[in-house]
Parts: sequence; structure tokens; C-alpha cells
Amino acid sequence: MSVWDDLVGQEKVSAVLDAAARDADALVTAAAADEPLPETSRMTHAWLFTGPPGAGRNQAARSFAAALQCVSPDRALGGAPGCGFCDGCHTALLGTHADVSTVAAVGAEILVRDMRDTVRKSFTAPANGRWQIILVEDAERLNEKSANAVLKAVEEPAPRTVWLLCAPSIEDVLPTIRSRCRHLNLRTPSVDAVADMLVRRDGVEPQAAAAAARATQGHVDRARRLATDPAARERRAAVLRLPLRLDEVGACLKAAQELVDAAAEDAKQLAEEMDGKEAEELKAALGAAQGGRLPRGTAGVMKDLEDMQKRRRTRTQRDSLDVALGDLTTFYRDVLALQLGSRVAIANADAQEALDRLARGSSPESTLRRIEAVAACREALDRNVAPLLAVEAMTMALRAG
Ligand SMILES: [Zn+2]
Repeated sequence: MSVWDDLVGQEKVSAVLDAAARDADALVTAAAADEPLPETSRMTHAWLFTGPPGAGRNQAARSFAAALQCVSPDRALGGAPGCGFCDGCHTALLGTHADVSTVAAVGAEILVRDMRDTVRKSFTAPANGRWQIILVEDAERLNEKSANAVLKAVEEPAPRTVWLLCAPSIEDVLPTIRSRCRHLNLRTPSVDAVADMLVRRDGVEPQAAAAAARATQGHVDRARRLATDPAARERRAAVLRLPLRLDEVGACLKAAQELVDAAAEDAKQLAEEMDGKEAEELKAALGAAQGGRLPRGTAGVMKDLEDMQKRRRTRTQRDSLDVALGDLTTFYRDVLALQLGSRVAIANADAQEALDRLARGSSPESTLRRIEAVAACREALDRNVAPLLAVEAMTMALRAG
């Protein structure tokens, strides 16, 4: 077992990261023993991980962070860093390691104020003497100001600081930043690789694992959720029933409302689980435990937390809608495959009857138009169009023709 086990179907990327982690370990070991540093090294200070959604770019960065922080005694015996068990690996993977800071967008953008503390930390030495790691998920959401803050830090990194940036594609990151990064591109893992991982790591039955992997088309997290969470399966089934329901305007509007409500419900559930607890923890940390009143001057900190929670709620809702839109896209892609007699495997074999009905009852041109309507809805949501408006426009377009 190692930290690379969670990277499904990414052998090339794992090999590069493993080599870098070994050289990084040699550097740390030599420095600690006051020995001369190795002349060449496959380790660099800034990395850019790209790849399609679900391929595991954040996971790749996190596994690498764990390997860099690995303190397993086996390393001295020639073992590779990244055991997955030691305190360094474990806390880095969990996200609680003191020298691994994660920045993730909670709204549409990563604001410069969300980056400020992290950038400051990037100029300091790591507490444990290994590496100071800054992991930026959603680097494509850095806005102009926060990207500039990152650029300055990446241009002049402290000796032991490592930047790990994740984004969908290389074009999503400022040229000035990406030119300073070593770029690794992850590919969509094969359906077989994902199914195999579900069986091996999550103990899912082979048949259910294969169905979940096929339905999610190489999206590792969604495949796992679908295979292990009955509520996710029910949600998907409801989405796949939708295309046949869209016969008149009233039905389209109702379907749109249901999709948006289901996503809002997801966001509400997450908020109920986390918001109150976070506020209590912050209050306790601010010393409000005595007397229940917040100390003077801390209202701003509480306001920041509330802002972050509000943005997270919006984002959860959008992500949840995006899952539904992804299911719709693969559904219509299946319809098109049937209409064109293509030999690609059907993703939604469990909805075969609906697929057949739609394939017979419509033309390939109208299916293509429907796929475009779903894509247009996704783009509208990315531009922060009100969800109900965007989804209504889509369901209406799915009906016509
Ligand atoms: Zn370890």
C-alpha cells in the first residue's frame, strides 16, 4: 500500500511524482545530516496538475504532499516515501498536517483575502523541517489579484516551499504562473480501472462497481458515491426519468424546479452539518466561552466565516446541479449512440427502455441540440446566471423538436 493507490489509472503521473518525492527526501536527509546536497534533483518547487473533472488532480496533489511529508522509518532502509501510514502521510492525506495548507474556492472566485495568510506562510520555513506545502485546488478560480499574489510567491519561493496548483487545463492558469510550474496532465481513467478500484478499495460487488463506473464515465468520486450511497442512486434515477417527462411547458417548468430544489436541499443538508459546528468552534477559539459574549473586535472574524459559509452553500448547490447535468449529458449521448448505431458502450444501461424510446422517437439532430442545451445550461451556471432561469431554459429546449 502507498499514497499512490488512490490515483486510479494514472501510472505515468504516479511514476513522475514518486521519483520527485524520492529526490526530495534525499535533499531533506542530506540537509539534516549536513552532507552535501545531491547535484541533480527531479524535485521542483511548483507543480501544476491538470485533467478532466473526476480524474483526480486534487488527489494527485494531495498524495504528492503526503509523500513529501512521509516520515516512515522504512525510508532509511531504501523504502520509497509515501507509505500512507506514518503520521506525515496520514495527516497530509486528511488535510490536517501543519505544513500543508489547502486553498479551495468556496465561491466563484478565490479572493485575495482568502490567499493572504497562505501566501505569508509560503515565505516561512516548515515547522517539521521537511516541506512547506501550499495546495491550491481550483487554481482556475484565482482572480486577477489573488493570481498576482500567487505569482509573486511562486517567483521567489522560500527554499523548502512547494506550490501545488490544480486546474482543469493548462489554459486556465495565467501563462506567467504556469511557465514556472512543472506540468502534469491526468487523463480520464478507464471504466475498468475505476470499477477495479471500487471493488478493491471500497468492497463494492463487481457488477455494481462496473455499473457505477460506466454511468459516471471515469469520474472517480462520483463513481464511488453512486456505488456506495443509495440517495445518490435515487437522485440519478430521478434525473434519468426526466427526459421522457418533458412533453409540455408545465412539465418542463416543474422538472426545472425539482432539479433546482434537489440541489438546494443538498446544500442545505451540508450547511446544517457544518455551519453551526464551525461557528461554535470559532467562538470557542475566540474565547467567548466565558459569559457567551464575543470579545471586542472579533465581529469581523465571525462575519468572514458567515461569508465563507454562504459562498460554500452556493457552490455546493452548483456542484450538485452539475452532477445532474452530467447525468443528462451521458443520457443523451447514449441516445445519440443508439440513433447512429455506434458501437460505444452505453453508459446508462439501467435506463435502456427510456433510451430506446427516445432514440426511436427523435432524430440525431434533435439529440445533438439537446446535448448542446445541457452544455449551455452548464455555461450559464458558470457565469452565475440564476439557477432556476438557466435550468428552465434547458428543460424547455430539451422538449422542443
Ligand atoms: Zn509515510
